[in-house]
Amino acid sequence: MIKDNILDVQNNIKEALKRSKVSNSCTLIAVSKTKPVSMLQEAYDTGIRDFGENKVQEILEKYEVLPNDIKWHMIGHLQTNKVKYIIDKVCAIHSVDSFKLAEVISKEAVKHNITMPVFIEVNIGDEESKFGISKNDVNTFYDSIKNLPNLKIEGLMCVAPYVDTPEDNRQHFVDLRNISVDISNKNVDNIYGNKLSMGMSNDYIIAVEEGSSYVRVGTDIFGNRNYNV
Ligand SMILES: *Cc1c(COP(=O)(O)O)cnc(C)c1O
Repeated sequence: MIKDNILDVQNNIKEALKRSKVSNSCTLIAVSKTKPVSMLQEAYDTGIRDFGENKVQEILEKYEVLPNDIKWHMIGHLQTNKVKYIIDKVCAIHSVDSFKLAEVISKEAVKHNITMPVFIEVNIGDEESKFGISKNDVNTFYDSIKNLPNLKIEGLMCVAPYVDTPEDNRQHFVDLRNISVDISNKNVDNIYGNKLSMGMSNDYIIAVEEGSSYVRVGTDIFGNRNYNV
């Protein structure tokens, strides 16, 4: 079942890329938060190597027991005091939403002598319930963190509003892309990645059409989550 779901999602991405005028590649991150190791193993056996998690403790537990060629993406809100536990275990942090966090990631990366790829999380729908930098502040925020050592700013990430009609989020994805291009144009000397981490189960097809580099898909692969167990 997981296998069929993955094949469906991969196929949808492929078709969306054909329609896209702005992109020709996209990486699927299987969002496995709350799901048991056995289900991750099944996804792994189908060829998935990129997994997304939003809790430090859960990454640590799964990291211990699953194959070591997995690329773990931290996609959830991250407390600064927990950065040290995952700095050498994740391939990217998608949820940089404060200067303090960027600074701590930078310091820990220096300690470990690694460069950490990060995404700036943008509150693209201006929702009070969401983390992320306001649209209008992204440029300034980028400038404030761009010289921190051992950080590689890959691009921008967003969690678009929950909508009944995915098409309603298209403009948000276009907006995120435009902000990213803007940063890219202004910072020709810096090594800004101009990548976009956008699109979830509900709206990833639209996100791919609008240039997503990483879609983060959970429910459509692993089924609904139960947070009460
Ligand atoms: C849970 C989560 C996802 C996956 O959401 P689905 O709707 O299950 O695909 C993607 N991104 C973030 C940041 C998440 O927390």
